[in-house]
Amino acid sequence: MKVYLHSIGCRLNQSEIETLARQLLAGGHEIVADPEQADKVVINTCAVTAQAARDGRTLTRRIHRGNQDAEILLTGCYAAIAPDELANVEGVGQIVSNQQKDQLAQILDPQIRLDLPLFDQEPVMRDFLAGNGRIGNTRAFIKAQDGCDNKCTFCVTTIARGAGQSRHLGDVVAEIQALTAAGYQEAVLTGVHLGSYGRDLHNNTNLRHLVAAVLEHTDIPRLRLSSLEPWEIPDGFFELWQNSRLLPHLHMPLQSGSDKILRRMARRASQDSFRQLADAARAHIPDLNLTTDVIVGFPGETEADFQTSFDFVREIGFTRLHVFAYSARPGTAAAQMPDHLPNAIKKERSRRMIALGQELSLAFHQQFEDQTRPVLWETAVGANGDGLRWAGYTDNYIRVQAAGPDDLFNRVTSTHLTAARSDGLSGQILV
Ligand code: SF4
Repeated sequence: MKVYLHSIGCRLNQSEIETLARQLLAGGHEIVADPEQADKVVINTCAVTAQAARDGRTLTRRIHRGNQDAEILLTGCYAAIAPDELANVEGVGQIVSNQQKDQLAQILDPQIRLDLPLFDQEPVMRDFLAGNGRIGNTRAFIKAQDGCDNKCTFCVTTIARGAGQSRHLGDVVAEIQALTAAGYQEAVLTGVHLGSYGRDLHNNTNLRHLVAAVLEHTDIPRLRLSSLEPWEIPDGFFELWQNSRLLPHLHMPLQSGSDKILRRMARRASQDSFRQLADAARAHIPDLNLTTDVIVGFPGETEADFQTSFDFVREIGFTRLHVFAYSARPGTAAAQMPDHLPNAIKKERSRRMIALGQELSLAFHQQFEDQTRPVLWETAVGANGDGLRWAGYTDNYIRVQAAGPDDLFNRVTSTHLTAARSDGLSGQILV
């Protein structure tokens, strides 16, 4: 069977689609890059913004028009919160709930075995890494946790994915061992609320124990964390970065820098708590790249609230911003709040916050001009007379482009960093 897979949205969705790809390959199926060649199509949808939901509908219709014979299965957060709405979209075959998602490979092929020991899957992972699965890349995303017990008033993810659930520590370690044996250079631990890892296991395990176990019991050269909510960080957590395999990059979603708006969002953070956390992280992690998400135009956000948020983002000196103009999501408390703002105001605030993000990114990248850092090379982005032009990421997650040999994919090299831009740096490969 030929299957086309597509993920919209977060790293967690991506990790799920990568796991599905490996299961299908291990079951003898083919992952195709072109939906027109597929017998089945799986789209892991996202509902975090109205735009992400629209993207899911548009993609479904487009794929159906290009290949009316393929059955299209939709899963993910949008499919979970609005199955009836999606069922009416032209071309939709099956809706698979988030609860059934772990059985998706068997829904596609009931003969597939999901209980293969991870080391038996290692050759498949190697194939996948080499691009034979088409969506493989040098960084493997590993789901350590799903769901969330918080109720941030804007958040639809917690509605779609339910209560927090952690994978057993030994399973995560075994998966990363197998990925390392397959040749992956970097593992990224993902979760909806990674900081709550272990709470539901009732055995006093937390994220610090998980990260320490991965560092101790695997040889993965680079370990990165995906998004981490700015609370419930275990004691002594930042001391883990004494191990240089744990990469100096943290993505901690602020959402707003105004205490008033943070309360309306029901976030468990304030200016003070965030400032303390950022200070503690920077005190322990040299050259930390601290990135964040910011929502602008939340219901009730006045110009003064926005300015407070803007000033706080500058004060903390985030090094990259993902800016979202607030959009009401069905079933959330914020959707019922008064004082929703006109789109024109949200757009204008977005524009200003994005410009600030670009200014902060450029300033951060300029600090690394003329320095040498390790870069993991991921993609050939072009060619010129000197050979291929490659893109990759430093340990502290700065995107770098450099000319390099044909066999650079999935290698880490020392790289001399040169001209800074807001989207990264240029470089020269040293070894
Ligand atoms: S912490 Fe808040 S924003 Fe993050 S997943 Fe949970 S409810 Fe959503």
